[in-house]
Amino acid sequence: MTHTRKPDPVDAIVVGLGATGGTAAKVLSEAGMKVVGFDRGPWLRAQEHYSGDELKFINRNYLWPDPKLFPRTLRHDEESVAEPFPFSPTPQLVGGGTNHWAGWVPRPRESDFLQRSLHGDLDGANLADWPIRYEHLEPYLTKVEWEFGISGIAGADKYEPYRSKDYPSAPLRPTRFGKRFYEACNKLGINGFPIPHAMVTNQHKGRDPFNTTSFWNQYGDPSTARSNTLTTFIPEAVATGNFELRAESFVREIKVGKDGRATGVIYIDPDGNEVEQDSGIVVLSLGAIESARLMLMSKSPSFPDGLGNSSGQVGKNATFHEYVFAVGLFDQEIDDPLYGWTGNYISGGTFEFYETDEDRGHIGGCLISASQTCHPINMVFPGRPTWGQGMKDADRDYFSFAMKIGAILHDMPVESNRVDLDPAVKDAWGLPVARITHKPHVNDVAMSKWQVDKNSEILRAAGARKTIPVYLQRMTGNTCHQHGTARMGTDSATTVLNEWCQSHDVDNLFVVDGAGFPSSTGVNPTLTMMANAWRACDYITQVYAKGREERIKVG
Ligand SMILES: Cc1cc2nc3c(=O)[nH]c(=O)nc-3n(C[C@H](O)[C@H](O)[C@H](O)COP(=O)(O)OP(=O)(O)OC[C@H]3O[C@@H](n4cnc5c(N)ncnc54)[C@H](O)[C@@H]3O)c2cc1C
Repeated sequence: MTHTRKPDPVDAIVVGLGATGGTAAKVLSEAGMKVVGFDRGPWLRAQEHYSGDELKFINRNYLWPDPKLFPRTLRHDEESVAEPFPFSPTPQLVGGGTNHWAGWVPRPRESDFLQRSLHGDLDGANLADWPIRYEHLEPYLTKVEWEFGISGIAGADKYEPYRSKDYPSAPLRPTRFGKRFYEACNKLGINGFPIPHAMVTNQHKGRDPFNTTSFWNQYGDPSTARSNTLTTFIPEAVATGNFELRAESFVREIKVGKDGRATGVIYIDPDGNEVEQDSGIVVLSLGAIESARLMLMSKSPSFPDGLGNSSGQVGKNATFHEYVFAVGLFDQEIDDPLYGWTGNYISGGTFEFYETDEDRGHIGGCLISASQTCHPINMVFPGRPTWGQGMKDADRDYFSFAMKIGAILHDMPVESNRVDLDPAVKDAWGLPVARITHKPHVNDVAMSKWQVDKNSEILRAAGARKTIPVYLQRMTGNTCHQHGTARMGTDSATTVLNEWCQSHDVDNLFVVDGAGFPSSTGVNPTLTMMANAWRACDYITQVYAKGREERIKVG
């Protein structure tokens, strides 16, 4: 590869233009900074490229990353050799995971920021408090909800912490299976409520309301009713005239000057040339796995173990929400073809089991919610044959008669659960891939067992004649929620970033995706990630860029 040219320097570079990178691009460029954003994938256009084609979107690598180009490897303990595995895949293209996310956007809870204070030492885990509290994030949760157009109903979740504003859009209508869920919750004294969705139900900033189709979880949405950064924040950043987007541009290294500060990045352009882009600030938002990988790949005399890694903590304490669930089978159709193909993928949920109750035998808890079993080619039904007559029979017998209740498993941070560079496996550019080492903590296994059994009980109260539990045994990678590989905290010896997502070691390097989360929370994390990215970018433009510094005092 050759160096072809050196573009003019800019104020800020954003690497990765998904949920958090799209947020960073908007906030920085709207504040007047000259920004270049890179994404390794293409810049698709929703109305041209997206549809409800189940094979294309779910079974092919149209949006999913191609494991031959972007492999990852997985091992379950330190001693094993990691095997290639599509662990925690999210779309690698402009818009990132928001291209085919379901868009459940519940808020985190106050307890999520206080895991160490609440629980002290948990054997085998590495619990930490966040260096911020819910109150520091609340204004930004509200900003994302309003800018993005979130539908929901304030107060319906009786456990919801303080919110400064209602939702901009009314909640999605309950589905047929959702009604069953609410009935069961009423019987059992559980507070069921409509999960807030990144889906507009009224006109919102030029976008039409949701057309009541279930073709959106894992599909690209051509209607643009589903909020994603591809059709919202990124065009808004471009409209400022301050943002230049370079798609199909793979960033392979963050450059460092003699003073140990970041000077920009080296990327591979769509023609395969290596290009250097200089910049005053570098913002990483590649997702927690790839942000850690890029930091570890960016070795220099000042940082022989990877950029910003003087603590040796980059990649460690990685947390992932394995999705566990119970499927309920009903005698009557509860999701018939009409309702199955319309309506929405998930309906009601509850925070009833979120806070610690030590009588359950574990700490923490998680959000649970009722959903379809997805679509027929990919029906989520344990033991179902995946082809032939057996599959057809299973679909006929069960597809319209099944619902599931799933849990966002609130896994515990463990230092040895981590991302590092695989010593043997390389990607399409000849660079070491991310190797994931993960063994669930005993608390994760106990929580999964208790919660899945509780979900089965709710399904039975909803009228299920049979329930099929799917517990956690080992981390299968059935997760697209990634956190914790570059923890935020006040101590530079044990954490990577400070409370502003700013590297302790490199003052002009910020990591604004889930990598900074000291704990995973028990909710779908993207709203929290986007709010946190917005908060960090406000700090960059309002404080850091003016040569000032501020600290947050907690506790
Ligand atoms: C099917 C599905 C359903 C989901 N549903 C929900 C949900 O309901 N609620 C929820 O909260 N979350 C959901 N998620 C998770 C959500 O998508 C992620 O949490 C979120 O996208 C993470 O945001 P991010 O900015 O960290 O990374 P991403 O959105 O993944 O963006 C990272 C970007 O970085 C780019 N990139 C990576 N490496 C490089 C490189 N070296 N150079 C240049 N660019 C690079 C990638 O191409 C990508 O576009 C879902 C995900 C999937 C896949």
